[in-house]
Amino acid sequence: MAVLDQLTSQEAMDLENKYGAHNYHPLPVVLSRGEGVYVWDVEGKKYYDFLSAYSAVNQGHCHPKIVSAMVNQAQTLTLTSRAFYNDMLGTFEKYATETFGYDKLLPMNTGAEAVETALKLCRKWAYEVKGIDENEAEIVVCENNFHGRTTTIISFSNDPVARKNFGPYTKGFIKIEYDNLKALEEVLSSNTNVAGFLVEPIQGEAGVYVPTEGYLTKAKALCEKHNVLFIADEVQTGIARTGKMLAIDHENIKADILILGKALSGGAYPVSAVLANDNIMNVIKPGNHGSTFGGNPVAAAVGMAALQVIKDEKLAENAQILGELFRAELSKFIETSNIVNGVRGKGLLNAILINDDEESETAWNICMALRDNGLLAKPTHGNIIRFAPPLVMTKEQLLDCVAIITKTLKQFEV
Ligand SMILES: *Cc1c(COP(=O)(O)O)cnc(C)c1O
Repeated sequence: MAVLDQLTSQEAMDLENKYGAHNYHPLPVVLSRGEGVYVWDVEGKKYYDFLSAYSAVNQGHCHPKIVSAMVNQAQTLTLTSRAFYNDMLGTFEKYATETFGYDKLLPMNTGAEAVETALKLCRKWAYEVKGIDENEAEIVVCENNFHGRTTTIISFSNDPVARKNFGPYTKGFIKIEYDNLKALEEVLSSNTNVAGFLVEPIQGEAGVYVPTEGYLTKAKALCEKHNVLFIADEVQTGIARTGKMLAIDHENIKADILILGKALSGGAYPVSAVLANDNIMNVIKPGNHGSTFGGNPVAAAVGMAALQVIKDEKLAENAQILGELFRAELSKFIETSNIVNGVRGKGLLNAILINDDEESETAWNICMALRDNGLLAKPTHGNIIRFAPPLVMTKEQLLDCVAIITKTLKQFEV
């Protein structure tokens, strides 16, 4: 068999199972093409994508403007490393900092790297600006967080599957309950070594937990009061997913450090970034931090195109409108359903709660049935199904999807 012969789904899955590490448990569907809100499997069956690669593909699969920016740049100059300047990075940095309202941007590749960058930046600021004693800085994080997979990041996770047997863990993190201002106030007022508060504006991986309205505003105010950096991980919630450019825009606050990834490239290429103002970012000096690929010309071209598409196509507005419609339609269904307990979310980052315990197979089986009915989604934490389609969806398509979802759920009513 020649390497490039078209495989069947079974052959492709067998290859991954035999030759790939088993660090994922994918839904059994093998995709070979994508366009807008659709993906196709190798047998040619078409699906609505309701995961969007964990919200990386907000602009839709293979968006022509993003692909064209990527191809043009790939044919011109791909990588110089930061040992030299390139003619794309500064332009991207100007565009992105103006878009989000910061002085400076530090480019990386993946979300986890951007989170690591933010943690290093926060610690260095703590010692050099805030004046915390060396090695004493603490960063407050939330229970049930998801910030990536590096050794330091899993050190402050409380997901046993992500953590167990990966120790020893990195010190310097304090975990408090999410959406609990009292817990934040207590830790900030009792510990003068706190440098930062790292938070997801909506906890995506944990199951799309939307905090109480006002939580983020008040948390930001508490951080200001105690001279603690408010660090927003918008890797999943950012770039129009929740109905605004950033999820924290719903509360009109600005993070001291903003972390972006995923849809910063529209899913075409790994592009992530950390944004901050000069009083923070200027603690980073040559040699302190870097990445061979971070800020490469292709990433810069793709990042710019990806943000441009969000603005040109008013995708935040679309996510807001379609999100309200989606939750309204599903709420109607849920009134008469005993298989779904609720729907929650913001914009087009939503989840339904299946009426069964976390260990049950029901959510997985529903996702398998959704697949058979032409829609792809994945359970998160057992009994929760996240619904996050590309933001380029039309109202007609969304209603078509609601019909598929409700028809499928009806098969599971008990
Ligand atoms: C996906 C995600 C990350 C990690 O991004 P990777 O590109 O997978 O490293 C970090 N934070 C949040 C909130 C995420 O959803």
